[in-house]
Amino acid sequence: MIIAANLKTNLTRKQTAEYVNKLEAFLNAHNSHQEVLVFPATSSLNSHAGKVIIGAQNAYPAKNGAFTGEIGVDHLDEFGIKSILIGHSERRHVLGETQESIAKKFNFYKELGFKIVYCVGEPLEVRKSGEKNMMEYLDAQYEGIDTSYESLIIAYEPVWAIGTGLTPTLEEIESLHLKLKEKSSAPLLYGGSVKLSNAQEVLALNGVDGVLVGGASLIVEDFSQMIIYAQDLEK
Ligand code: PEP
Repeated sequence: MIIAANLKTNLTRKQTAEYVNKLEAFLNAHNSHQEVLVFPATSSLNSHAGKVIIGAQNAYPAKNGAFTGEIGVDHLDEFGIKSILIGHSERRHVLGETQESIAKKFNFYKELGFKIVYCVGEPLEVRKSGEKNMMEYLDAQYEGIDTSYESLIIAYEPVWAIGTGLTPTLEEIESLHLKLKEKSSAPLLYGGSVKLSNAQEVLALNGVDGVLVGGASLIVEDFSQMIIYAQDLEK
């Protein structure tokens, strides 16, 4: 299974190095074969050799250039980074990325062969407006995205569940995942308030190939335990 940590704007470079080293030691001690991805803050990116795959939370679709405040492929290459998170709800809704700019970024990093964790998810008012509207909203987040890209991982993350402690019911997660599976055969992660107390049951659901964890991933022991849950399920 795929267990991914979005560290967001947390953990300094030193703290991230400690985190990744602890996680790496844990994976080796448990002979883990789960796919473990960690997305640190941009200034905490660093080279890492081992089982943990380090990815960027964001980068501009350019090698380098006049894009103040952004980083490009050169900055990822410096650390051998070949994975990227695209379409996260905080980038869509807090930082204003449009589907057009997201698709452009997707296609740029796809051409470079990056592993892409592509996030989709609906705000609460959309969910409340009924299943048809919700599916149309999610459909629109697949516009311009090559759903058959071989290095694609999709993460379904309801916006209202991110960082709130709220989650859909297990039945709702399963049924939505089975619907999204009809759009793409890429591995499909669930994200949104996954924590130690619910990770095991979420991971066990049909159509769930892993989890993308924000807040709860900051505690490396908790995140490590989620990897054990995934391992025990042997999906
Ligand atoms: C996320 O940021 O992708 C996320 C799922 O956050 P949290 O686990 O904190 O809800």
